[in-house]
Amino acid sequence: MTTFAKEESATETSIRRPPASAPSHHARSLLEIGGRRMPFMRWSFIRLLLSLRRLMRVWQVGDGREERLAGYVVENAHERDLDDVIRAIDEYSYSRSYMINVGDEKGAILDEAVRRARPSQLLELGTYCGYSALRMCRAMPDGARLVSIEFNAANAVIARRILEYAGVSDRVAVLVGTLGDGGLTIASLEAEHGFSAGSLDFVFIDHDKSAYVSDLELILSRGWLHPGSVVVADNVKFPGAPDYRAYLKECQDVRWRTIEHEAHLEYQSLLRDLVLESDYLGG
Ligand code: MG
Repeated sequence: MTTFAKEESATETSIRRPPASAPSHHARSLLEIGGRRMPFMRWSFIRLLLSLRRLMRVWQVGDGREERLAGYVVENAHERDLDDVIRAIDEYSYSRSYMINVGDEKGAILDEAVRRARPSQLLELGTYCGYSALRMCRAMPDGARLVSIEFNAANAVIARRILEYAGVSDRVAVLVGTLGDGGLTIASLEAEHGFSAGSLDFVFIDHDKSAYVSDLELILSRGWLHPGSVVVADNVKFPGAPDYRAYLKECQDVRWRTIEHEAHLEYQSLLRDLVLESDYLGG
């Protein structure tokens, strides 16, 4: 079996620290053991675990934290300041409600992949509240355009509000749907967003873990990718997308060349996660 190249995240040593305005030292000491942040001691994380089934079905936790995030951003971040909006979302996720954004640690891996690919056209599967779309906007070249697809219409409204507030709504389109919705979303991408043979340079997959392989196959079947296109996938270890990992391993150095980035699940340093970064070789 082909062994994947492994790469420790370059940010590994710099991500343990929460943002400056995260919980006070005293509060943090209650949340950490030996310097490790304990997600299980945060009520908002327990609440999320209790709602995991619902979350994986409807992509909202069910306690209004997604709506509250948009309000928090508007109240606490400077308008049209991309860096500050990203900072405010991280702050909210550390100090208010645990969120399933890609987060600051894995977000830095995503940033680097976007910078390396220098994409003109990007696709995201799983907008959620727009956090990773903001990071991709910051890292992608001027003139690049991102289309982000979100299953939950309420999340799409929240994401659009945050993207608009950050001043990047002209660079990102949020579509409600899925690639597997019978052709509606695919038709929209091709008719309204310029998706065509070889046009797609970068894909970020961060939605329904059971759809990673089928959606990548759908993308391949449309011929949108070209040799050199880059596909990044979140949560390959937790909650886990083992079939996606096996799929890429199977065609390592033939159709894909994949690097596995070891990291942690977002906004804590206890649970491990993997981000896969794959170069399409063609074929
Ligand atoms: Mg994720």
